[in-house]
Amino acid sequence: MDAREQLRRFLEQRREAGETELVFDSLSVDEAMRILGAGAPKETGGRRQEAGNERNVPSDMGAARDWREVLKESGAAPTGESARDVKPARETSRVAPPAPAGETSARYSMPTPPPSATPTHATMPIDDVPSGIVIGGPGHELFSGGSPFATLADLSTAVSTCTSCELHRGAKNAVPGEGNPNADLMCVGEAPGATEDELGRPFVGQAGQLLDKILAAIKLSREDVYICNVLKHRPPGNRNPMPDEVQACSPFLLRQIELIQPRVIVAFGTFAAQTLLNTREGIGKLRGKIHRYHGVPLVVTYHPAALLRNPAWKRPAWDDVQLARKLLDRAISS
Ligand code: URA
Repeated sequence: MDAREQLRRFLEQRREAGETELVFDSLSVDEAMRILGAGAPKETGGRRQEAGNERNVPSDMGAARDWREVLKESGAAPTGESARDVKPARETSRVAPPAPAGETSARYSMPTPPPSATPTHATMPIDDVPSGIVIGGPGHELFSGGSPFATLADLSTAVSTCTSCELHRGAKNAVPGEGNPNADLMCVGEAPGATEDELGRPFVGQAGQLLDKILAAIKLSREDVYICNVLKHRPPGNRNPMPDEVQACSPFLLRQIELIQPRVIVAFGTFAAQTLLNTREGIGKLRGKIHRYHGVPLVVTYHPAALLRNPAWKRPAWDDVQLARKLLDRAISS
């Protein structure tokens, strides 16, 4: 697929997902720069000087024009702020080092926002929150034919040797999932990133640190919940999951849900939500509702990596997880 077509598909997916800001993933920086007609960095033919962005830039890219100026002129980056600060690529957001001990940078924090003037799904009574998509019946009948995985440990072993799709070839480690096997709340993300691939654990990179804060905001820790992804192996370059990969990996996720029997599921991001709810609807339409997944209430919110890129989404994400908390409290007390 040529780079222009790749860019077109990527933009279509992002628009469907309700995203208005642009974050590149599998498209290389050089390809995107060529398509946009932007020139090489100031030091033509050399290496970029920005920390963590050390790709070689071919010398055939024409006269140097600072990419920040190009973006500023196009209105895509606010003056005085580099585009990197505004929109870190997924790769960067997943592999950046943790916030220094004892320091809570605003970027990593999930502060308590001031109460919203208008009622939201977080403040309205649960019974007034609109119902969403219903998948399956009211019970845990996901695998009526019986699953080969009797326990989470069996499942993890199968994941680590899985060759059902091509992703295992490029991955360093499988990332089956982890957490409390009796968790009341289950967090489902998209796919492992670089740090997760390195360590074989879900949500341990920068997005994972924000997930920890999100959980803390609803008085939960990683140890309380179960955390996993739709895909158990990392897609190369953090590209979006392909339909055949999602299909190949789905039995693992479904069985995890069946074994854990959570009281509430939170789908983080478009892919988790669309996979579990079997829909192509964008995240904008899926949020703010109580969906049902085989009887389990399911809340959709933004992916932590998306919150790192779009801090304005933290407020709505806060509302979403407060709704999850309320559903949890109600389930526990009933
Ligand atoms: N993003 C995800 O969706 N999952 C992870 O485990 C890490 C980043």
